[in-house]
Amino acid sequence: MDPFGLKVIFITFLVFVPLERLFALHPQKVFRRGWANDLIFLFLNGLLIKLGLLAVIGASIFAAAQILPASFQAAIGGLPYWVQIPAVIVLSDLGFYWTHRMFHAVPWLWRFHAIHHSIEELDWLAAARVHPVDQILTKGVSLVPVVALGFSEWAIGVYALLYQWQSVLIHANVRIRFGPLRLLFASPEFHHWHHSSQLEARDRNFAGQLSFLDALFGTLHMPRGQAPTTYGLDRPMPQRYVPQLLYPFMGERIFQSTPDTPEIGETMRVPD
Ligand SMILES: [Zn+2]
Ligand SMILES: [Zn+2]
Repeated sequence: MDPFGLKVIFITFLVFVPLERLFALHPQKVFRRGWANDLIFLFLNGLLIKLGLLAVIGASIFAAAQILPASFQAAIGGLPYWVQIPAVIVLSDLGFYWTHRMFHAVPWLWRFHAIHHSIEELDWLAAARVHPVDQILTKGVSLVPVVALGFSEWAIGVYALLYQWQSVLIHANVRIRFGPLRLLFASPEFHHWHHSSQLEARDRNFAGQLSFLDALFGTLHMPRGQAPTTYGLDRPMPQRYVPQLLYPFMGERIFQSTPDTPEIGETMRVPD
């Protein structure tokens, strides 16, 4: 029993910390600003998100069983894995893309997602700084269709494993580029632009795994040979875990009700 996923966290640390030393994109400390707080996100959010997703997926399995004929689900689950795995990745990332784009476009949703964008030094741990409501909704919309349609647990498991590692990689402070595959798969180069505070990169690169979705929907921003220089937002954002969880519900009032004052340079942007 490992409800906090300690083994995976430890393995991720062992893989990515040396990788970031060897191939650093920006000069940066391992224990950068906000590191300890993001570690709290990593330990506590993982559990909260798993519980939330279990509830969402359990409900969708029940609903799908009422709507879809069992023979249809069995036919999907019986397709060869070389068909199921790419199909699950494409369908799930379409769900991810549009939910993520909604989180940027709708102001009250943006307040949840702004927590993730408040990070100013990207690294392997940055993927953990996410509001649970943001993650449960985004991952829920990604997973519900593939679970409901009857794709096999094995195919969904492969997708989930790839997603997990790719999500850490695309946030990592590494100058690893994907060559021509950059136009197909989300890379560190692709997702770092998503976090850039530079105007031209705002509300771009929404996909989680497949960068071609952004090319398809007209939101790709990945100028060749360039990398963003600054990340983050342009309004104050709380610095600690609990105020960050409360921020979407309280907005700027959080600064009056907690000792968590905004710091100079800590910024939050308004959605375009
Ligand atoms: Zn975003
Ligand atoms: Zn991110």
